[in-house]
Amino acid sequence: MRRAFSALLALLLLFVPCFAEDVCVYRKGTARGQVSLTFDDGPHSAYTREILQILKDLGVRATFFVIGENARQYPDILREIHAAGHEIGNHTDSHAFLKNLTLASTCKEVSDAAKTIEEIVGVRPHVFRPPGGSYSDAKIAALSDMGYVSVLWSKDTRDWTCPSVQSVVNSATQNLSDGDIILFHDFNGKNSPTPEALRKIIPIIKEQGFSCVTVSEVLAH
Ligand SMILES: [Zn+2]
Repeated sequence: MRRAFSALLALLLLFVPCFAEDVCVYRKGTARGQVSLTFDDGPHSAYTREILQILKDLGVRATFFVIGENARQYPDILREIHAAGHEIGNHTDSHAFLKNLTLASTCKEVSDAAKTIEEIVGVRPHVFRPPGGSYSDAKIAALSDMGYVSVLWSKDTRDWTCPSVQSVVNSATQNLSDGDIILFHDFNGKNSPTPEALRKIIPIIKEQGFSCVTVSEVLAH
């Protein structure tokens, strides 16, 4: 009886922090031996398909935080992301920075993108990444009420600035640890180093003993 009470108390203590947190923006997961590759700003007419092929060739799944406007422009590519078993997250409808939006327009940006995603692939996203990492606690709390888990990252490859392939490889793989969430972009207006870097990054991650999973999985939600 006493042991059962102790177990119950331990269980309650485990869950109390979740109830106490109105606002939570994840930067890193807790899953042991797992990391997550995440791709923002797509779908893109060329790079997304190239990245999908690489992920397929190397047998890993990832999360794509897509923009509603781009999803409407390339619905077939969004379907290909979904059909390949990757997770689709919400990255607003027009890549609006939350700091420039009212609370109401934040919710509209996110719900417009969700509507587009659901119309195209039949699934409503439940993970959200704020463009530019810009957010406020009040806006994240409102999105939490809408059912979203908000996620930033623990490793930034800065691939959107078009650094060298080796720079992207180093940023993604150095000092890798359990639950890391790695930020890439599948939309890039210039010559993206990301596809070539990915072909090197994924084997290195595997050599280090990590598997690549979706962001929901690495958060163990
Ligand atoms: Zn973005």
